Amino acid sequence: MSREVEITALEAVAHWFSEAKRAVILTGPELTFEAGIPDAGELHFNPDINSFREDDSVKEKYWEKIAEIYPKISAAEPTAAHKAIYELSILGELDCVITQAVDALLIKAGCENVLQIYSSIHWAQCLNCGKDYRMMETLTEMSRYGRKIPSCAVCRTGILKPPLSFPGQPLPHWEVREAWIKIQNCDFLICAGASLENEPVASFPVQARGGGAKTVVISAAKGSADDYVDAVLYGGPAVVLPALVEEVKRVSSV
Ligand SMILES: [Zn+2]
Repeated sequence: MSREVEITALEAVAHWFSEAKRAVILTGPELTFEAGIPDAGELHFNPDINSFREDDSVKEKYWEKIAEIYPKISAAEPTAAHKAIYELSILGELDCVITQAVDALLIKAGCENVLQIYSSIHWAQCLNCGKDYRMMETLTEMSRYGRKIPSCAVCRTGILKPPLSFPGQPLPHWEVREAWIKIQNCDFLICAGASLENEPVASFPVQARGGGAKTVVISAAKGSADDYVDAVLYGGPAVVLPALVEEVKRVSSV
């Protein structure tokens, strides 16, 4: 792809964003990776929910990993990509941001209307009574009392886990339903650094396009959606999204 074609695609995307009345941005693991927390972007270490419930050694191993990576996630700062999405929310008619990331960095960057469809790693929830605990407080308690597995202070018997969906568990119902409604109603969808390989997210660009929305992929890597979306901007979201912000400002002032 020549430099000239790349600039033209960026300009077209900027125009679509400026003209959109209900734009949606979908983000995912590439943004988490760019923030220096690759493990949380992958989350391959999430065990099957049944073995987590039944096997203390699985729980121990999981919480050991969380204790190792959570301080990194908690200390991570929004990147140029997160900040650019916040700027886009000011510049245009951005209905919401749907994210696969569990790090809450979009919220840290100031974004409102964020749908975390894989939930958040900043909380731990009791599987028995539903009590929520801040992750940092849970880890601090574990460290203070030398516990390998945290337990619920309210019901005493409950198992704690982050509200992330482990294999064998459905995605958070409310968030996914809201995301579907937003996708069906949007007139412009940017998939920036999202993983479009698995459902339900794999169907989001298809659904948006079917409803008449322009669809764009921004990614450092080629993906299966590239062939049917209206435009693809290759590059890391932390590079491409700030360039898009500048282009939106430019086309809006012409
Ligand atoms: Zn409980």
